[in-house]
Amino acid sequence: MRAHEHRGRCACGAVRFRVHADLTDVVACHCQTCRRWSGYFWGATHVSREALSIEAGETLTWWASSDLAERGFCSQCGSSLFYRRHDVDRISIAPGALESPTGLATAAHICVAEAGDYYDLDPSLPQKLGPEMDS
Ligand SMILES: [Zn+2]
Ligand SMILES: [Zn+2]
Repeated sequence: MRAHEHRGRCACGAVRFRVHADLTDVVACHCQTCRRWSGYFWGATHVSREALSIEAGETLTWWASSDLAERGFCSQCGSSLFYRRHDVDRISIAPGALESPTGLATAAHICVAEAGDYYDLDPSLPQKLGPEMDS
């Protein structure tokens, strides 16, 4: 299997990381927490945890957004970077943090029951009312 390397960073550059894996297409989440956390709606590509190397992470801060998961952001610039569940061996990475070109496309929308009223969903993409995984 081919594993591409991708590089990424937060807006201020204090958090820098590399990903040694092929990235999955982006799933956009419209839940209230993602919308509040990102300011719009949040989306992510997923890789296994071991594929992510944090090269600079002094300002990387983790917030327990529920009993199930935590979210990583830069405490200096506020960039919303990572999401990980405690029970799954994978990490979600914000595509906006990756160097371009990412080669990614948006594949689906989830939690659309909680979508904001300030944008329209792309009707050509699959939509799920709830989360990608149960609970
Ligand atoms: Zn930053
Ligand atoms: Zn969400």
